[in-house]
Amino acid sequence: MSNRLWTALCVALVAAFAAASVGDMGGLGRFLVVLGFGMLAAFTLEMVLDPPEPKQTAPQREPVSRGGFSRSMLDRMPAPFILIDLRGRVTYSNGEAARVLPRIRPGAHFSTMMRAPDFIEAIESVAKTGRERHVHFILPSRAQQHVVAHIALLPAGGEFGPDEQIMIQIEDQTEQYRANTLRSDFIANASHELRTPLASIIGYIETLRGHAKDDPEAREHFLGIMEKQAARMRRLVDDLMSLSRIELSEHVRPGDLVDLHTLAREAAAGLEPQRAQYEARLTLDLPDTPMLVKGDRDQLVQVLVNLIDNGMKYGGDGAGVTVQSAGEDTRYPGMVGITVVDSGPGIAREHIPRLTERFYRVSAKQSMEKGGTGLGLAIVKHIVKRHMGDLAIESTLGQGSRFTLWFPMAKGAAQDSAAPESIEKTDA
Ligand code: ADP
Repeated sequence: MSNRLWTALCVALVAAFAAASVGDMGGLGRFLVVLGFGMLAAFTLEMVLDPPEPKQTAPQREPVSRGGFSRSMLDRMPAPFILIDLRGRVTYSNGEAARVLPRIRPGAHFSTMMRAPDFIEAIESVAKTGRERHVHFILPSRAQQHVVAHIALLPAGGEFGPDEQIMIQIEDQTEQYRANTLRSDFIANASHELRTPLASIIGYIETLRGHAKDDPEAREHFLGIMEKQAARMRRLVDDLMSLSRIELSEHVRPGDLVDLHTLAREAAAGLEPQRAQYEARLTLDLPDTPMLVKGDRDQLVQVLVNLIDNGMKYGGDGAGVTVQSAGEDTRYPGMVGITVVDSGPGIAREHIPRLTERFYRVSAKQSMEKGGTGLGLAIVKHIVKRHMGDLAIESTLGQGSRFTLWFPMAKGAAQDSAAPESIEKTDA
């Protein structure tokens, strides 16, 4: 309530007392009538002279933009946008354009910011014909940044001035280009991997039909080779299918509670034929307590199979492979780890960062002799990624390798409690 209102109310009160003390009307009646009129007059005066302020819901701030609608929108667009006049001078560029093309200046000729011949030709063509163009090129300032410039004519008389101008919108397509390159490299590699055994099988069929036709000994020998090549093709197709299935499920979080120790025992049991073939010594140095994680049982078994199999395969004659718990590591807080250690020849440092690439092998010849497809560790990487985990590879030439799988510890699961029922069923 304002001071003015208080004063008016006081005056009304005094007037009412005065009226009550004089005249013939009952004192109380006059007092009430004069007080009532006085209060009404005071409120009316207050409302007219000082109306109540509207309630503020948000704090006062500067207006969002002082420009027009189009300019405000373009200023904030997350893609570079540039306007040039028909003589090629820059008349407008948004913040993103300045970030991507640091040399851009108002009034500068567009050719100073980008010299790609296709880009220059497209602008000249739009200025001449008025027909829209889309042109792909690599940005000069950023190596290997693939962009597409959408170039069109802006009609005269709009928010940006009375003359016609050329508008350029730049779209970053580096990710798409990278994905396309990866995909086509992958298809080329996969076709090559399949073509080699296929060519060998076709060659032996011709031989069997030709000069080895009546030679039972040669036939047996060639059939043996063909069988091996067919098995290689089947392994490749199986791994390619696995990889594609894993990629499809990569964004779906696995939800089952599983025990990595149990799965490691299961993986080792399934690899007994390979262990016997390589004459390897496989040791499971795992405690009886479970190591619980949220995961996809089959995929985690596959990861462990791939790592243990590699350890035995590349570990050399009579390789020693041990599967053990990784213990706590400050680099992986809140995670549990399981390690596959081998006593093999080890891997040179320069190869380690590339081992999980598809078809990458330290020695292609050795991998093929051992029945490798070059996809085992790529599969491991994708499965680990789906499980929000990590794969750590450590190796010393002449001493062996350690592949450690890290996964987030299952929330609320006591790692030393008994294994849940669903896990016990999977025990090997
Ligand atoms: P592959 O099917 O060829 O085994 P992987 O993706 O499983 O494919 O492994 C990629 C390459 O990494 C192998 O070809 C091999 O050169 C190397 N490698 C993997 N594991 C080991 C290991 N335990 N010891 C030595 N080299 C290994």
